[in-house]
Amino acid sequence: MILLGSTGSIGVNALAIAERFGLSVDTLVAGRNITLLNQQIQKFFPKRIVVLNPQDIASVNHPNVHAGEEAILEAIESSASDFVVNALVGFAGFRPTLKALECGKRIALANKESLVVGGAFVDTSRIIPIDSEHFGLWYLNQTARPISRMLITASGGAFRDWPIEKIQEATLKDALNHPNWSMGQKITIDSASMMNKMFELLEARWLFGEGEYDAIIETKSIIHALIDYQDGSTTAHLANANMQLPIAYALMGKSDAKILKSVNLLEVGSLEFREITSDRYPIWDIRQELLANPARGVIVNAANEVAIEQFVDGKISFLEISTRVMDAFKHFEQEPKSIEDIFYLNNEVRQYVRKLT
Ligand code: NDP
Repeated sequence: MILLGSTGSIGVNALAIAERFGLSVDTLVAGRNITLLNQQIQKFFPKRIVVLNPQDIASVNHPNVHAGEEAILEAIESSASDFVVNALVGFAGFRPTLKALECGKRIALANKESLVVGGAFVDTSRIIPIDSEHFGLWYLNQTARPISRMLITASGGAFRDWPIEKIQEATLKDALNHPNWSMGQKITIDSASMMNKMFELLEARWLFGEGEYDAIIETKSIIHALIDYQDGSTTAHLANANMQLPIAYALMGKSDAKILKSVNLLEVGSLEFREITSDRYPIWDIRQELLANPARGVIVNAANEVAIEQFVDGKISFLEISTRVMDAFKHFEQEPKSIEDIFYLNNEVRQYVRKLT
């Protein structure tokens, strides 16, 4: 495989699966964590390495090291492997997704932003999602039974139990305090604002086609997805929360081996479900409009990435992330009609949000 984002939360878990099942690693792409990258090189013997910054090349213990976005695209194009695992974060993952598809490769896609911004223009038949909720929907959806609704669950993020009026004082440290598990910084902030769930609804829309999609909070993150059928039955996918299950299926297509300990319902005891409300998660207000116009995801994504940078830099409050995204969504009404439009809009929205005071 060509693994993009090997030093991140998903990348590390993908390598754990590769090690356990003896999968070979052709190329590793990482950002700044050269210490971890060097450990991975010693263990997996990849043929080529790409890092973010040219000044880090000399610190990488490998004879074939390159740097920058063009080098990632070149690695995808020239590698003999026809399988790309895209675990980069944010819009930076979009070009590599396009390149992999252009080269006829299959993609295990954790980089949900690729679908959020460009789902209308990518061939999802060659994409296998790495996301618990979409894995859950796929796992449940193995029959021809007519479906009335697909439902995914949210943990509720860092502020689900906070008094609502206190959220305006939330710091970066508070936002990163996820109640159920540890993930990369951006997705943890997206979980706290509920942006992550909105992105996942869009992702589901592109992967499974038009239909009714919704999300609810399940506080223990044991149920990941539910399907309501037209006959009135509902099925649910339960699994302990661990990304190695969806990753194993994405990398191998199936798994006869036990990946996780089974859920023990007696230990779980009870489950609690809550509605996602826009007083706690203001961004939830635009979800219907966004789902009705999913190609506008590029606007939401660009605004969100800039607003998160501003929040991380201490320039805006946590709640202003959502305010800025909603402002940009209202300001830019257009839908991209091509991949060029996506890049154009992505730049325009970023400039707009940077100028907001
Ligand atoms: P992390 O921040 O933990 O990891 C991101 C990875 O990408 C790191 O290896 C980082 O390198 C690398 N990277 C970032 N930017 C660049 C760049 N410009 N060039 C080269 N490498 C780069 O993120 P996660 O693993 O949490 O998330 C990855 C994706 O998976 C996101 O889209 C997220 O939404 C999605 N996802 C994550 C889940 C999770 O449980 N974490 C669950 C479902 C989806 P370095 O660290 O060396 O700087």
